[in-house]
Amino acid sequence: MENVIILGTGCAGLTAGIYTARANLRPLVIEGVQPGGQLTTTSEVENFPGFPEGVDGFELMDRLRKQAAKFGARFQSDLIERVDLSGPEKILKSAAQEYKTHALIIATGASPRMIGVPGEKEMFGGKGVTTCATCDGSFYRGMDVAVVGGGDSACEEALFLTRFCTKIYLIHRRDELRASDIMAKRTLENPKIQPVWDTLVERVLADEKGHVRGLTLKNKRTGAASELVVKGVFVAIGHLPNTQAFAGALPLDELGYFIPEAGSQVKTKVPGVFVAGDCADHVYRQAVTAAGMGCQAAIEAERWLAEHE
Ligand code: NAP
Repeated sequence: MENVIILGTGCAGLTAGIYTARANLRPLVIEGVQPGGQLTTTSEVENFPGFPEGVDGFELMDRLRKQAAKFGARFQSDLIERVDLSGPEKILKSAAQEYKTHALIIATGASPRMIGVPGEKEMFGGKGVTTCATCDGSFYRGMDVAVVGGGDSACEEALFLTRFCTKIYLIHRRDELRASDIMAKRTLENPKIQPVWDTLVERVLADEKGHVRGLTLKNKRTGAASELVVKGVFVAIGHLPNTQAFAGALPLDELGYFIPEAGSQVKTKVPGVFVAGDCADHVYRQAVTAAGMGCQAAIEAERWLAEHE
């Protein structure tokens, strides 16, 4: 029987690990399919406070992990598939094992949806394909780039990129944006953003160094193929929160994100169960906001355990 189990080793999970370990709770941190979370797929992180020269995403996560381990957090690799949160003991089940815990912090993150075309995976993370303009936009100063998608995220990414890039092609599979009216208007009125309607990305093209040099596109209406020269591709076709294992046990919104209790970002309707980071936040989605939620969840778990000892 554990005091507290933390699911996830992104910024939220590891920060919760640091705080609960420093509170002498000896947390068990379970790391899933992507140890270190989404930041390990980005090269340089320039907006995490305390690193004026920037920090490699992988290194930052490695430091957080070491910091949690230093104070007594224990790590285990496993994938939780089912949970039973109905009793005082929270039960978590993977294919091979069952875990029992008093308190649970779920920080399982979200995965960016990818297009799934040749070249995308190969050039993801440092070679020109990315899912985060806030993280990587400034590396494309003075260059032409493409944003794929037609929702609020795609518009937000495209607008953010106007600060650095010469031209932003907004590639959307229909002829109308899904984004809110205000975001769509702002996007379409920006002279640096050129929409490319009714268009699918068929392939991401590499230069001789294996970095993005362009895209092969296909017009859905005419069937015509074309090549677009860009140095960066920002995929913004939505995220999938990693919450499937908890459906039925905790309330999820229509997009699959956890719905916290009113008045809190991290408490859930089940006493002793807390959520943190991108699995419960589709608005900010930043490393530092995830870390902040991890800290809140840890403090709440600590208080809850003290009250229920
Ligand atoms: P979204 O609203 O689901 O939009 C995804 C976009 O990607 C859609 O335009 C969709 O096309 C396109 N798409 C999906 N799969 C695709 C594929 N395989 N190939 C090509 N295109 C594909 O996702 P989101 O923009 O990330 O927004 C998620 C939620 O967060 C929304 O509720 C949004 O309002 C909110 N959000 C709000 C803000 C803000 O208010 N500032 C910022 C970001 C996000 P179709 O349109 O054809 O389906």
